[in-house]
Formats: sequence, C-alpha cells, structure tokens
Amino acid sequence: LADGVEDAAGSLALSARILEAVSKPLWLAGRELFPSASIGIAQWQPRYRLGEELLRDADAAMYRAKAEGRDRSALFDEAMRAHAIRSLDLEADLRRAILNDAFVPHFQPIVRLADNTVVGHEALLRWNHEWHGPLPPGEFIGVGEDSGLIEQVDWLIYERVVDWLRGRDDGYVSINVSPRHFRSDDFAERLLQMLDGAGVDPHRLRIEITEVALLDDAPRALRMLNTLRERGVQALLDDFGTGFSALSYLHRFPIQSLKIDRSFVAGLDGQTRAESLALVRAILALASTLGIDTIGEGIETEAQRDILVELGCPFGQGYLYGVPAPL
Ligand code: C2E
Ligand code: MG
Ligand code: MG
Repeated sequence: LADGVEDAAGSLALSARILEAVSKPLWLAGRELFPSASIGIAQWQPRYRLGEELLRDADAAMYRAKAEGRDRSALFDEAMRAHAIRSLDLEADLRRAILNDAFVPHFQPIVRLADNTVVGHEALLRWNHEWHGPLPPGEFIGVGEDSGLIEQVDWLIYERVVDWLRGRDDGYVSINVSPRHFRSDDFAERLLQMLDGAGVDPHRLRIEITEVALLDDAPRALRMLNTLRERGVQALLDDFGTGFSALSYLHRFPIQSLKIDRSFVAGLDGQTRAESLALVRAILALASTLGIDTIGEGIETEAQRDILVELGCPFGQGYLYGVPAPL
C-alpha cells in the first residue's frame, strides 16, 4: 500500500523505482541472477467496499503487465474492469454449459492430397450456446484455459469423439489437447481407458498438441506421449512454425506428424509468396529427414494445394475439402 501517492503518475514513478531496485543483479549459489518484477497497480476508488476488491484489480493489472512482456508495471483501468467482468460472465456461462453438456465436436476431413481420399478427420470443438448458436473455440478458449474449465470441456468432446469412432470403421480422428492436460498425471491412462471401454482401436485416435505443452514439464510430457504411442495413439504437432519451433522437440519427443500452420499455406498464393514458399519447403525437408509426416492446414484454393503437392506435402485439410461440420 502506497499511502503518500497522489495520482497515477505518482504510482508509476514509484513502481519504476521498485523495478530498478529489484533488477540489481545478485549472486545465488554461485550464479549471477538478474531478477525482474511485474507490477500491477490499482488506485483506491470510492466504489471499493473491501480490501480484496483493490487487491483483485491490482492482480488483474499484474497479469496485464506479465502478458505485455513482464519486467514492467501496468495500471488497472476501466477497459480491464470491463474485460474482467466479461471473463467472469463467460466463465459462469461455461460452467453451466458443462453441466448441460452443451459441447459438440464438428469434424473436418483430412485428405491425401495426391488423390483427394479422406484419411481421417479433425474434431473441432463447438459450443452450442443457448443464445449465440454454435460458438467456435476462439470465443471462449482463453477463459477456459485460464479457469481450467477447458479440461472438463475436452473430456466431454473426447467422449463424443470416441463414441463417433465406435460407430464407423473408416479413418482416424485427431483431437486437440489443451496444454493443461500435460500437467495432470493420468491423462494418457484416462484416454486409453476411454478407448478400451468403448472397444475402439487406439490407432484410430490421434492427438494434436502445441509446443507449449512440451515446454512446461518435458519429462512428464515425454512419459505421457510414450504411454500413448505404445498403445498406438499418434501425436501431431499443431500450428508448426508459429511458436518457438524448436527443432530439437521433433526428435526428443515421439511426434509422428506436424501440421504446417495455416498462415504459411495462405501465404503460398498470397503477398508473402516467396517467404512462405521458403518456409514451407524448409519445414517439409526437415520433416522428411526426420521421418515425420506432414499435413498442410487451412487449404482454401487449388493453387495452394498444387504448390503443396509440388513441394511434397502428402496430406492436407481446409475449406477446399470441407468445413468443420457435425457428422
Ligand atoms: P487448430 O487445431 O489449428 O484448428 C484449425 C482451425 O482452422 C479451426 O478453427 C478450423 O475451423 C480452422 N480452419 C480449417 N480450415 C480452414 C480454412 O481453410 N481456412 C480458415 N481460415 N480456417 C480454417 P477453430 O475450429 O475455430 O479452432 C481454433 C482452435 O481452437 C484450434 O486450432 C485448436 O487449437 C482449438 N481447439 C479446437 N477444438 C478444440 C478442442 O476440442 N479442445 C481444445 N483444447 N482446443 C480445441
Ligand atoms: Mg488442431
Ligand atoms: Mg492448427
């Protein structure tokens, strides 16, 4: 609590001094460390009734400071307040929707580019919202991740997917796995139990993960992926090229395929043609050297498809072949 501070400028000046004091290098166990801090500032308002409300807003501002790159301070403002309220509403909505089982998978075909045969589908989550209709994940996945509710939503979707697989015998389905599942100890076992319970061959399910899932606790992620692979569940790296794309992951972890991010595919016949071509070519060369399969994401035009085929990309998906639909 900074008592003597009069206004926003005063609190920012104070936080700048704190940041400076904190950032002095220090020695710990023989290593030199360079600490930093993220500071959230909220000014007392007459509308606050409890100390906790002031703390809550300062907390929200601190998360903003972290999101903006850390080692800085952020001042709580009305926009943040509105955002916080919207998130809380959405979270309550999401909880209700979980109870009502209001989530359904839509399926988008994945094809072999050479002859257009469908080899599998990606299951994409949709929320059958009571007023807004089917909502795509972009509208609520952030809140789901922050609150942890996405894990429950995912399990509801996986159950539907496994059920869907049981009723057919063609191709595989790949499911998207939130990085949050990589913090639980029994994700792989639970998924395998679900498949066994339904009598579905694990080879018919694939999981799509993003690099962030591998960052947190690499040994645990490795255990999990190995457990799944031993039973036949393949792992795909989604949105390849957008994250750190640390090449070492591709051979450190049992990854069988990667998905070339939609932005590069779109670039193939767009304004960034030359760069996209170079990047896609490099990704394909790398994957083929490592014996990893490739899927081009977000193919919308014949031209994009033709270039991918020419570059040697075997599989693809996108609106050209079909939009995600309830099957
Ligand atoms: P993603 O896994 O990379 O999925 C591909 C996204 O691209 C999907 O968006 C899909 O509808 C969209 N898409 C497919 N073809 C085209 C195309 O030709 N053009 C364009 N412009 N877009 C195309 P969607 O369904 O909104 O999903 C967004 C993201 O949400 C997914 O990205 C995935 O990361 C996440 N997600 C989806 N379903 C689930 C789920 O069940 N669980 C979790 N945890 N995340 C999910
Ligand atoms: Mg995906
Ligand atoms: Mg993707």
